[in-house]
Amino acid sequence: MRPRSGPVAALVLLVLSLAAAGCSDPPTQTARPASTPTATPTPGPAATPASTPTATPTPGPAARLAPAPTPEESIESALAEYIPWYGDPPYPLAVAPIRELWHRDAELGRAVAQAPWIADGLDHWEEDAVYGLQYLFDHDPALARRVLAYTLDEPVRSRDTLLPATLGRMSREHRDTFKLLIGQTWFADGLDAEERAFIVAVSHTTGVDGLYRGLLAERFSRSGAISLPLAGEVTLWAFSNDAPPTGEVLALAQRAVRGAEGIMGAPFPLDDLIILSLDVDGYDIAYGGVNWGDSVVLLRGERLLERDYGELLYHEIAHYWLPGEIGPFWLYEGGANMVAAYLLAGGRPLEVDENMVSYCRDHGVPDIHAVEVPDHPDPVAQSTCCYLFGQYFLTTLFHTVGEAAFSSAMRELYEAYASYEPPATDEQVYRVFLGHTPPDRRAAFLDAYRRLHGGPFLPVR
Ligand SMILES: [Zn+2]
Repeated sequence: MRPRSGPVAALVLLVLSLAAAGCSDPPTQTARPASTPTATPTPGPAATPASTPTATPTPGPAARLAPAPTPEESIESALAEYIPWYGDPPYPLAVAPIRELWHRDAELGRAVAQAPWIADGLDHWEEDAVYGLQYLFDHDPALARRVLAYTLDEPVRSRDTLLPATLGRMSREHRDTFKLLIGQTWFADGLDAEERAFIVAVSHTTGVDGLYRGLLAERFSRSGAISLPLAGEVTLWAFSNDAPPTGEVLALAQRAVRGAEGIMGAPFPLDDLIILSLDVDGYDIAYGGVNWGDSVVLLRGERLLERDYGELLYHEIAHYWLPGEIGPFWLYEGGANMVAAYLLAGGRPLEVDENMVSYCRDHGVPDIHAVEVPDHPDPVAQSTCCYLFGQYFLTTLFHTVGEAAFSSAMRELYEAYASYEPPATDEQVYRVFLGHTPPDRRAAFLDAYRRLHGGPFLPVR
Protein backbone atom coordinates (compact mmCIF):
# COMPACT_ATOMS: atom_id res chain seq x y z
CA MET A 1 0.00 0.00 0.00
CA ARG A 2 1.25 3.42 -0.80
CA PRO A 3 0.35 6.96 0.10
CA ARG A 4 -2.11 8.79 -1.99
CA SER A 5 -1.08 10.86 -4.90
CA GLY A 6 0.26 14.37 -4.59
CA PRO A 7 -1.85 17.43 -5.06
CA VAL A 8 -2.49 19.05 -8.37
CA ALA A 9 0.34 21.18 -9.65
CA ALA A 10 -1.99 24.12 -10.21
CA LEU A 11 -1.80 24.68 -6.50
CA VAL A 12 1.95 24.96 -6.44
CA LEU A 13 1.99 28.74 -6.45
CA LEU A 14 -0.41 28.91 -3.58
CA VAL A 15 1.54 26.35 -1.61
CA LEU A 16 4.86 27.97 -2.37
CA SER A 17 3.54 31.27 -1.16
CA LEU A 18 2.43 29.59 2.03
CA ALA A 19 5.87 28.18 2.63
CA ALA A 20 6.88 31.12 4.79
CA ALA A 21 6.09 29.22 7.98
CA GLY A 22 9.11 27.04 7.29
CA CYS A 23 7.19 24.20 5.83
CA SER A 24 4.04 23.79 3.94
CA ASP A 25 2.26 20.73 2.92
CA PRO A 26 0.13 19.87 0.02
CA PRO A 27 -3.58 20.33 0.47
CA THR A 28 -5.01 17.31 2.18
CA GLN A 29 -7.38 16.53 -0.64
CA THR A 30 -6.30 13.62 -2.74
CA ALA A 31 -5.64 14.59 -6.32
CA ARG A 32 -8.14 12.17 -7.69
CA PRO A 33 -8.79 12.18 -11.37
CA ALA A 34 -12.20 13.55 -12.20
CA SER A 35 -13.30 10.14 -13.34
CA THR A 36 -13.29 8.18 -10.14
CA PRO A 37 -13.80 4.45 -10.03
CA THR A 38 -17.47 4.98 -9.42
CA ALA A 39 -17.89 6.39 -12.92
CA THR A 40 -20.06 4.23 -15.09
CA PRO A 41 -18.12 2.96 -18.06
CA THR A 42 -19.52 4.13 -21.34
CA PRO A 43 -18.93 1.75 -24.21
CA GLY A 44 -17.03 3.55 -26.91
CA PRO A 45 -16.15 2.73 -30.48
CA ALA A 46 -13.16 0.71 -29.33
CA ALA A 47 -15.33 -1.67 -27.42
CA THR A 48 -16.65 -3.44 -30.47
CA PRO A 49 -16.74 -7.22 -30.43
CA ALA A 50 -14.02 -7.35 -33.08
CA SER A 51 -11.53 -5.74 -30.71
CA THR A 52 -11.87 -8.51 -28.17
CA PRO A 53 -11.20 -11.93 -29.64
CA THR A 54 -13.41 -13.79 -27.20
CA ALA A 55 -16.35 -11.61 -28.16
CA THR A 56 -16.39 -12.39 -31.85
CA PRO A 57 -19.68 -14.13 -32.53
CA THR A 58 -19.04 -17.24 -34.52
CA PRO A 59 -21.97 -18.71 -36.34
CA GLY A 60 -22.43 -22.30 -35.32
CA PRO A 61 -24.41 -24.50 -33.04
CA ALA A 62 -23.15 -22.74 -29.92
CA ALA A 63 -24.38 -19.42 -31.21
CA ARG A 64 -27.86 -20.76 -31.45
CA LEU A 65 -27.79 -22.22 -27.96
CA ALA A 66 -26.52 -19.17 -26.06
CA PRO A 67 -26.51 -15.49 -26.92
CA ALA A 68 -23.13 -14.02 -27.88
CA PRO A 69 -21.49 -12.10 -25.06
CA THR A 70 -21.97 -8.36 -25.10
CA PRO A 71 -18.87 -6.17 -25.48
CA GLU A 72 -19.13 -5.46 -21.79
CA GLU A 73 -19.16 -9.15 -20.92
CA SER A 74 -16.22 -9.76 -23.22
CA ILE A 75 -14.17 -7.12 -21.49
CA GLU A 76 -15.08 -8.53 -18.10
CA SER A 77 -14.09 -12.04 -19.05
CA ALA A 78 -10.79 -10.82 -20.49
CA LEU A 79 -10.09 -8.80 -17.34
CA ALA A 80 -10.94 -11.83 -15.21
CA GLU A 81 -8.45 -13.84 -17.23
CA TYR A 82 -5.59 -11.32 -17.07
CA ILE A 83 -5.93 -9.88 -13.56
CA PRO A 84 -5.14 -12.35 -10.77
CA TRP A 85 -7.06 -10.37 -8.14
CA TYR A 86 -10.09 -9.76 -10.35
CA GLY A 87 -12.33 -11.91 -8.16
CA ASP A 88 -11.24 -10.30 -4.90
CA PRO A 89 -13.62 -7.83 -3.36
CA PRO A 90 -14.19 -5.03 -4.04
CA TYR A 91 -13.20 -5.84 -7.61
CA PRO A 92 -15.81 -3.74 -9.46
CA LEU A 93 -14.24 -0.59 -8.01
CA ALA A 94 -10.64 -1.69 -8.24
CA VAL A 95 -10.85 -2.78 -11.86
CA ALA A 96 -12.81 0.31 -12.95
CA PRO A 97 -9.88 2.41 -14.22
CA ILE A 98 -8.59 -0.46 -16.35
CA ARG A 99 -12.08 -1.13 -17.68
CA GLU A 100 -12.43 2.55 -18.60
CA LEU A 101 -9.12 2.48 -20.42
CA TRP A 102 -10.20 -0.64 -22.29
CA HIS A 103 -13.32 1.14 -23.45
CA ARG A 104 -11.15 3.89 -24.92
CA ASP A 105 -8.76 1.50 -26.61
CA ALA A 106 -8.92 -2.27 -26.37
CA GLU A 107 -5.28 -2.78 -27.25
CA LEU A 108 -4.08 -0.36 -24.59
CA GLY A 109 -6.51 -1.80 -22.05
CA ARG A 110 -5.29 -5.32 -22.72
CA ALA A 111 -1.64 -4.24 -22.45
CA VAL A 112 -2.29 -2.56 -19.09
CA ALA A 113 -4.28 -5.51 -17.74
CA GLN A 114 -1.24 -7.69 -18.39
CA ALA A 115 1.36 -5.19 -17.15
CA PRO A 116 3.65 -6.53 -14.41
CA TRP A 117 2.70 -3.78 -11.94
CA ILE A 118 -0.98 -4.74 -12.14
CA ALA A 119 -0.54 -8.33 -11.02
CA ASP A 120 -0.14 -7.57 -7.29
CA GLY A 121 -3.05 -5.15 -7.00
CA LEU A 122 -3.60 -1.52 -7.83
CA ASP A 123 -2.38 0.99 -5.27
CA HIS A 124 -3.07 4.72 -5.37
CA TRP A 125 -0.13 5.51 -7.57
CA GLU A 126 -0.91 2.75 -10.00
CA GLU A 127 -4.54 3.72 -10.16
CA ASP A 128 -3.44 7.27 -11.03
CA ALA A 129 -1.10 5.77 -13.64
CA VAL A 130 -4.03 4.03 -15.36
CA TYR A 131 -6.05 7.24 -15.34
CA GLY A 132 -2.98 9.09 -16.59
CA LEU A 133 -2.78 6.72 -19.55
CA GLN A 134 -6.41 7.47 -20.36
CA TYR A 135 -5.74 11.20 -20.43
CA LEU A 136 -2.59 10.74 -22.47
CA PHE A 137 -4.50 8.55 -24.89
CA ASP A 138 -7.05 11.34 -25.35
CA HIS A 139 -4.20 13.71 -26.12
CA ASP A 140 -2.01 11.44 -28.23
CA PRO A 141 -2.53 7.66 -28.44
CA ALA A 142 1.06 7.06 -29.57
CA LEU A 143 2.41 8.92 -26.53
CA ALA A 144 0.20 6.85 -24.22
CA ARG A 145 1.62 3.64 -25.70
CA ARG A 146 5.16 4.95 -25.44
CA VAL A 147 4.76 5.90 -21.80
CA LEU A 148 3.11 2.58 -21.00
CA ALA A 149 6.10 0.80 -22.52
CA TYR A 150 8.36 2.25 -19.79
CA THR A 151 6.29 0.34 -17.23
CA LEU A 152 6.45 -3.04 -18.91
CA ASP A 153 10.07 -3.99 -18.21
CA GLU A 154 10.72 -5.59 -14.86
CA PRO A 155 11.59 -4.61 -12.26
CA VAL A 156 9.08 -1.77 -12.55
CA ARG A 157 10.13 1.11 -10.31
CA SER A 158 7.97 3.85 -8.83
CA ARG A 159 9.32 6.45 -11.27
CA ASP A 160 7.95 4.31 -14.14
CA THR A 161 4.38 4.28 -12.86
CA LEU A 162 4.61 7.85 -11.53
CA LEU A 163 5.44 9.01 -15.07
CA PRO A 164 2.07 8.21 -16.72
CA ALA A 165 0.28 9.59 -13.66
CA THR A 166 2.29 12.82 -13.88
CA LEU A 167 2.04 13.27 -17.63
CA GLY A 168 -1.64 12.41 -17.71
CA ARG A 169 -2.35 14.99 -15.03
CA MET A 170 -0.31 17.62 -16.86
CA SER A 171 -1.97 16.90 -20.21
CA ARG A 172 -5.35 17.44 -18.61
CA GLU A 173 -4.72 20.33 -16.27
CA HIS A 174 -1.71 22.20 -17.64
CA ARG A 175 -1.94 21.87 -21.37
CA ASP A 176 0.58 24.63 -22.22
CA THR A 177 3.32 23.53 -19.84
CA PHE A 178 2.70 19.94 -20.89
CA LYS A 179 3.27 20.83 -24.55
CA LEU A 180 6.43 22.68 -23.62
CA LEU A 181 7.70 19.55 -21.88
CA ILE A 182 6.91 17.05 -24.62
CA GLY A 183 8.45 19.42 -27.15
CA GLN A 184 11.88 19.19 -25.51
CA THR A 185 14.48 17.33 -27.55
CA TRP A 186 15.44 15.20 -24.58
CA PHE A 187 11.80 14.19 -24.17
CA ALA A 188 11.27 13.35 -27.82
CA ASP A 189 14.33 11.10 -28.10
CA GLY A 190 13.19 8.72 -25.35
CA LEU A 191 13.24 8.99 -21.57
CA ASP A 192 15.87 7.34 -19.43
CA ALA A 193 15.38 6.65 -15.73
CA GLU A 194 16.84 10.00 -14.70
CA GLU A 195 14.53 11.90 -17.04
CA ARG A 196 11.50 9.98 -15.80
CA ALA A 197 12.32 10.83 -12.19
CA PHE A 198 12.96 14.45 -13.13
CA ILE A 199 9.58 14.85 -14.85
CA VAL A 200 7.80 13.71 -11.67
CA ALA A 201 9.41 16.52 -9.68
CA VAL A 202 9.48 19.29 -12.27
CA SER A 203 5.73 18.88 -12.83
CA HIS A 204 5.27 20.63 -9.48
CA THR A 205 6.96 23.82 -10.63
CA THR A 206 4.61 24.63 -13.50
CA GLY A 207 3.04 27.39 -11.41
CA VAL A 208 6.27 29.41 -11.49
CA ASP A 209 6.94 29.92 -15.15
CA GLY A 210 10.56 31.09 -14.93
CA LEU A 211 11.58 28.22 -12.68
CA TYR A 212 9.83 25.65 -14.84
CA ARG A 213 11.27 26.88 -18.14
CA GLY A 214 14.72 27.19 -16.61
CA LEU A 215 14.61 23.60 -15.40
CA LEU A 216 13.45 22.27 -18.75
CA ALA A 217 16.38 24.03 -20.39
CA GLU A 218 19.01 23.08 -17.82
CA ARG A 219 19.06 20.92 -14.72
CA PHE A 220 21.70 19.46 -12.47
CA SER A 221 21.32 16.01 -11.06
CA ARG A 222 22.92 13.35 -8.94
CA SER A 223 21.70 9.90 -8.02
CA GLY A 224 22.60 6.96 -5.87
CA ALA A 225 21.15 3.67 -4.69
CA ILE A 226 20.66 2.56 -1.12
CA SER A 227 19.31 -0.54 0.54
CA LEU A 228 16.90 0.05 3.40
CA PRO A 229 16.09 -2.43 6.17
CA LEU A 230 12.36 -2.35 5.42
CA ALA A 231 11.86 -0.95 1.91
CA GLY A 232 14.82 -2.68 0.24
CA GLU A 233 16.49 -0.98 -2.69
CA VAL A 234 15.62 2.67 -3.18
CA THR A 235 17.11 5.03 -5.76
CA LEU A 236 17.85 8.56 -4.57
CA TRP A 237 17.54 11.37 -7.07
CA ALA A 238 18.61 14.93 -6.37
CA PHE A 239 17.86 17.66 -8.88
CA SER A 240 18.56 21.35 -8.74
CA ASN A 241 18.39 24.46 -10.88
CA ASP A 242 21.66 26.17 -9.95
CA ALA A 243 24.55 23.83 -9.24
CA PRO A 244 25.26 20.08 -9.18
CA PRO A 245 23.80 18.58 -5.99
CA THR A 246 26.55 17.56 -3.61
CA GLY A 247 27.02 14.12 -2.16
CA GLU A 248 25.91 15.65 1.12
CA VAL A 249 22.34 15.99 -0.17
CA LEU A 250 22.18 12.26 -0.91
CA ALA A 251 23.81 11.50 2.46
CA LEU A 252 21.17 13.59 4.25
CA ALA A 253 18.40 11.90 2.30
CA GLN A 254 19.78 8.48 3.10
CA ARG A 255 20.04 9.30 6.80
CA ALA A 256 16.48 10.59 6.73
CA VAL A 257 14.83 7.55 5.16
CA ARG A 258 16.82 5.11 7.31
CA GLY A 259 16.07 6.98 10.51
CA ALA A 260 12.42 7.54 9.64
CA GLU A 261 11.92 3.86 8.82
CA GLY A 262 13.29 3.11 12.27
CA ILE A 263 11.17 5.49 14.30
CA MET A 264 8.01 5.03 12.21
CA GLY A 265 8.35 1.25 11.96
CA ALA A 266 7.15 1.18 8.33
CA PRO A 267 8.98 0.97 5.00
CA PHE A 268 9.65 3.95 2.78
CA PRO A 269 6.64 3.67 0.45
CA LEU A 270 8.31 4.13 -2.97
CA ASP A 271 11.26 2.80 -4.96
CA ASP A 272 12.50 6.29 -5.78
CA LEU A 273 13.13 9.20 -3.46
CA ILE A 274 13.06 12.26 -5.72
CA ILE A 275 14.27 15.59 -4.35
CA LEU A 276 14.13 18.83 -6.32
CA SER A 277 16.08 21.55 -4.57
CA LEU A 278 15.54 25.01 -5.99
CA ASP A 279 17.42 28.23 -5.50
CA VAL A 280 14.51 30.67 -5.45
CA ASP A 281 16.46 33.86 -4.76
CA GLY A 282 15.23 36.33 -7.35
CA TYR A 283 11.73 34.85 -7.31
CA ASP A 284 8.96 36.11 -5.12
CA ILE A 285 8.79 32.88 -3.18
CA ALA A 286 9.44 32.15 0.48
CA TYR A 287 11.84 29.42 1.56
CA GLY A 288 10.31 26.16 2.60
CA GLY A 289 9.47 22.72 1.39
CA VAL A 290 6.61 20.66 0.04
CA ASN A 291 6.21 16.92 0.10
CA TRP A 292 4.03 16.18 -2.91
CA GLY A 293 3.72 12.51 -2.11
CA ASP A 294 5.65 11.50 -5.23
CA SER A 295 8.62 13.83 -4.63
CA VAL A 296 9.95 16.55 -2.37
CA VAL A 297 10.49 20.12 -3.53
CA LEU A 298 12.73 22.37 -1.40
CA LEU A 299 12.95 26.11 -1.86
CA ARG A 300 16.18 27.59 -0.63
CA GLY A 301 18.43 30.56 -1.09
CA GLU A 302 21.43 32.39 0.28
CA ARG A 303 19.79 33.24 3.57
CA LEU A 304 18.93 29.65 4.41
CA LEU A 305 21.57 28.10 6.62
CA GLU A 306 23.02 24.70 5.86
CA ARG A 307 21.65 23.28 9.07
CA ASP A 308 18.20 24.62 8.27
CA TYR A 309 18.39 22.98 4.86
CA GLY A 310 19.06 19.62 6.49
CA GLU A 311 16.21 20.13 8.93
CA LEU A 312 13.88 21.12 6.09
CA LEU A 313 14.84 18.04 4.11
CA TYR A 314 14.34 15.77 7.13
CA HIS A 315 10.98 17.33 7.89
CA GLU A 316 9.71 16.91 4.34
CA ILE A 317 10.98 13.35 4.03
CA ALA A 318 9.23 12.52 7.32
CA HIS A 319 5.95 13.48 5.62
CA TYR A 320 6.18 10.30 3.51
CA TRP A 321 5.11 8.57 6.73
CA LEU A 322 3.12 11.50 8.06
CA PRO A 323 0.99 12.81 5.20
CA GLY A 324 -1.83 15.27 5.68
CA GLU A 325 -4.41 12.48 5.41
CA ILE A 326 -3.12 10.53 8.41
CA GLY A 327 -4.85 12.50 11.15
CA PRO A 328 -4.86 15.87 12.97
CA PHE A 329 -2.63 18.77 11.87
CA TRP A 330 -0.60 18.59 15.10
CA LEU A 331 0.10 14.90 14.50
CA TYR A 332 1.60 15.17 11.02
CA GLU A 333 3.35 18.53 11.48
CA GLY A 334 4.48 17.94 15.05
CA GLY A 335 5.42 14.41 14.01
CA ALA A 336 7.49 15.62 11.02
CA ASN A 337 9.21 18.15 13.31
CA MET A 338 9.89 15.43 15.85
CA VAL A 339 11.35 13.02 13.27
CA ALA A 340 13.53 15.86 11.93
CA ALA A 341 14.78 16.66 15.44
CA TYR A 342 15.45 12.97 16.08
CA LEU A 343 17.50 12.76 12.88
CA LEU A 344 19.37 15.98 13.63
CA ALA A 345 20.27 14.53 17.02
CA GLY A 346 21.76 11.50 15.28
CA GLY A 347 18.92 9.20 16.33
CA ARG A 348 19.49 9.78 20.03
CA PRO A 349 16.59 10.05 22.45
CA LEU A 350 15.29 13.59 22.38
CA GLU A 351 15.18 15.96 25.28
CA VAL A 352 11.83 17.36 26.29
CA ASP A 353 12.48 21.06 26.41
CA GLU A 354 9.84 23.20 28.13
CA ASN A 355 11.09 26.24 26.22
CA MET A 356 9.74 24.65 23.05
CA VAL A 357 6.22 25.48 24.10
CA SER A 358 6.68 28.69 26.09
CA TYR A 359 5.57 30.64 23.00
CA CYS A 360 2.40 28.53 22.83
CA ARG A 361 1.60 28.96 26.51
CA ASP A 362 2.18 32.72 26.21
CA HIS A 363 -0.26 32.88 23.31
CA GLY A 364 -3.18 31.01 24.82
CA VAL A 365 -2.31 27.55 23.52
CA PRO A 366 -1.57 25.58 26.71
CA ASP A 367 -2.24 22.12 25.23
CA ILE A 368 -3.05 20.24 22.01
CA HIS A 369 -6.76 20.59 22.57
CA ALA A 370 -6.31 24.37 22.35
CA VAL A 371 -4.89 24.22 18.81
CA GLU A 372 -8.23 22.90 17.65
CA VAL A 373 -10.54 25.25 19.57
CA PRO A 374 -12.68 27.18 17.08
CA ASP A 375 -12.64 30.99 17.13
CA HIS A 376 -9.38 31.14 19.05
CA PRO A 377 -8.20 34.76 19.44
CA ASP A 378 -4.79 33.90 17.97
CA PRO A 379 -5.15 31.57 14.96
CA VAL A 380 -1.50 32.14 13.96
CA ALA A 381 -0.36 30.83 17.34
CA GLN A 382 -2.72 27.88 16.94
CA SER A 383 -1.20 27.01 13.59
CA THR A 384 2.40 27.49 14.75
CA CYS A 385 1.73 25.41 17.85
CA CYS A 386 0.56 22.47 15.77
CA TYR A 387 4.24 22.21 14.87
CA LEU A 388 5.71 23.17 18.23
CA PHE A 389 3.27 21.67 20.67
CA GLY A 390 2.77 18.66 18.43
CA GLN A 391 6.51 18.01 18.50
CA TYR A 392 6.70 18.59 22.24
CA PHE A 393 3.73 16.32 22.97
CA LEU A 394 4.93 13.49 20.72
CA THR A 395 8.43 13.73 22.17
CA THR A 396 6.90 13.41 25.64
CA LEU A 397 4.90 10.37 24.53
CA PHE A 398 8.06 8.85 23.06
CA HIS A 399 9.72 9.02 26.48
CA THR A 400 6.59 8.03 28.38
CA VAL A 401 5.60 4.89 26.46
CA GLY A 402 9.09 3.92 25.24
CA GLU A 403 10.54 3.81 21.74
CA ALA A 404 9.11 0.40 20.77
CA ALA A 405 5.55 1.29 21.79
CA PHE A 406 5.86 4.70 20.15
CA SER A 407 7.01 3.17 16.85
CA SER A 408 4.32 0.52 16.79
CA ALA A 409 1.62 3.13 17.50
CA MET A 410 2.92 5.32 14.68
CA ARG A 411 3.02 2.32 12.38
CA GLU A 412 -0.60 1.49 13.15
CA LEU A 413 -1.64 5.06 12.32
CA TYR A 414 0.36 4.97 9.10
CA GLU A 415 -1.03 1.61 8.04
CA ALA A 416 -4.58 2.80 8.63
CA TYR A 417 -3.89 5.71 6.29
CA ALA A 418 -2.26 3.42 3.72
CA SER A 419 -5.34 1.18 3.86
CA TYR A 420 -7.49 4.09 2.68
CA GLU A 421 -9.06 4.71 6.08
CA PRO A 422 -10.21 8.28 6.76
CA PRO A 423 -7.85 10.52 8.78
CA ALA A 424 -7.66 9.47 12.43
CA THR A 425 -9.50 11.70 14.89
CA ASP A 426 -7.85 12.91 18.09
CA GLU A 427 -9.71 10.24 20.00
CA GLN A 428 -8.56 7.53 17.59
CA VAL A 429 -4.96 8.71 17.91
CA TYR A 430 -5.31 8.49 21.68
CA ARG A 431 -6.74 4.97 21.53
CA VAL A 432 -4.00 3.77 19.19
CA PHE A 433 -1.28 5.04 21.52
CA LEU A 434 -3.11 3.65 24.54
CA GLY A 435 -3.30 0.25 22.86
CA HIS A 436 0.47 0.14 22.45
CA THR A 437 1.39 1.49 25.87
CA PRO A 438 2.86 -1.13 28.22
CA PRO A 439 0.59 -1.67 31.28
CA ASP A 440 3.18 -0.32 33.71
CA ARG A 441 3.31 2.96 31.79
CA ARG A 442 -0.41 3.52 31.37
CA ALA A 443 -0.73 5.85 34.39
CA ALA A 444 2.12 8.06 33.17
CA PHE A 445 0.69 7.97 29.66
CA LEU A 446 -2.73 9.12 30.88
CA ASP A 447 -1.12 11.82 32.96
CA ALA A 448 0.80 13.13 29.94
CA TYR A 449 -2.35 13.07 27.83
CA ARG A 450 -4.32 14.98 30.45
CA ARG A 451 -1.59 17.58 30.96
CA LEU A 452 -0.56 18.15 27.36
CA HIS A 453 -3.46 17.10 25.18
CA GLY A 454 -6.79 17.39 26.99
CA GLY A 455 -10.12 16.64 25.39
CA PRO A 456 -13.52 15.17 26.22
CA PHE A 457 -12.59 11.57 25.35
CA LEU A 458 -10.09 11.18 28.19
CA PRO A 459 -11.40 9.02 31.07
CA VAL A 460 -12.58 10.83 34.17
CA ARG A 461 -10.18 10.38 37.04
ZN1 LIG B 1 5.38 19.89 7.25
